[in-house]
Amino acid sequence: MVKVGIHVSIAGGLDKAVDRAVEKGCDDFQIFSRNPRGWSSRDLSPEEVKRFSDKLTASGIFPAVDHMPYLPNLASPKDDVYFKSVEVLSSELIRCGGLGIPYLVTHLGSHTGVGFEDGLSRVTEAVKDGLSKSKNEVMLLLENTAGSKNSMGGSFQDIAAILEVVESKRVGICLDTCHLFAAGYDISTKEALEKTLQEFDDHIGMDKLRLLHINDSKGALGSNLDRHEHIGLGKIGEVGFATILAHETLRNIPMVLETPVDARRDDVGNILAVRDMASRSER
Ligand code: ZN
Ligand code: MN
Ligand code: MN
Repeated sequence: MVKVGIHVSIAGGLDKAVDRAVEKGCDDFQIFSRNPRGWSSRDLSPEEVKRFSDKLTASGIFPAVDHMPYLPNLASPKDDVYFKSVEVLSSELIRCGGLGIPYLVTHLGSHTGVGFEDGLSRVTEAVKDGLSKSKNEVMLLLENTAGSKNSMGGSFQDIAAILEVVESKRVGICLDTCHLFAAGYDISTKEALEKTLQEFDDHIGMDKLRLLHINDSKGALGSNLDRHEHIGLGKIGEVGFATILAHETLRNIPMVLETPVDARRDDVGNILAVRDMASRSER
């Protein structure tokens, strides 16, 4: 069976995220361990950390995933933003270690004004620095982007360039299906999916893939629009997801939904849609 879960809120305390994941029947889940739209965060008390990790262990859910907040920009040409970003990165990696969270997902930032090469040296320094300041086993997962202007990580070549410089066993990849499609990587048919995965394997290596952000796309192929849609109701569509969920490699990678919640469907609805499509391919 596929492993699928959703992004859950930490409102009321970090450990409440585990309760929500259990309540919604998640096999795995993702959180923001701090306010995703702010810079500041308070330290977690040892009690908070213990409450979370005890509940996580008791739940049997694996893996729990932490996502970096939105403001840090690891490729920023501005020193103040850059150094603050690296500080958030290392403190999140350390925090994950304490919480028993094996993966931290990060976006690769934006190189506004300085171009890809300078952005590349910033982000690789940031990743190396973050890893060396957190002496644990937590893996940093680099997430592909929708390929909007100035963003790092819209192409497999970009990500490969980062991996080549960083060279660490603690770095892996999170592929977001919506971002892939929006960046121009077609995954909406069996043939297109195979071609895209071959390209991923050629540049990056399938063994690096640790997590899928499983989202349909409101935007068309190559639109560079980062707009998530319910599974099967967007431009990747039913056929696309049936193929993704039947794929022998992909179906064994943990999946986290970052889909909308609206009148058409909620989180549980998307979990069920994924499980239903995945089980159809088993019959
Ligand atoms: Zn993300
Ligand atoms: Mn994502
Ligand atoms: Mn997105």
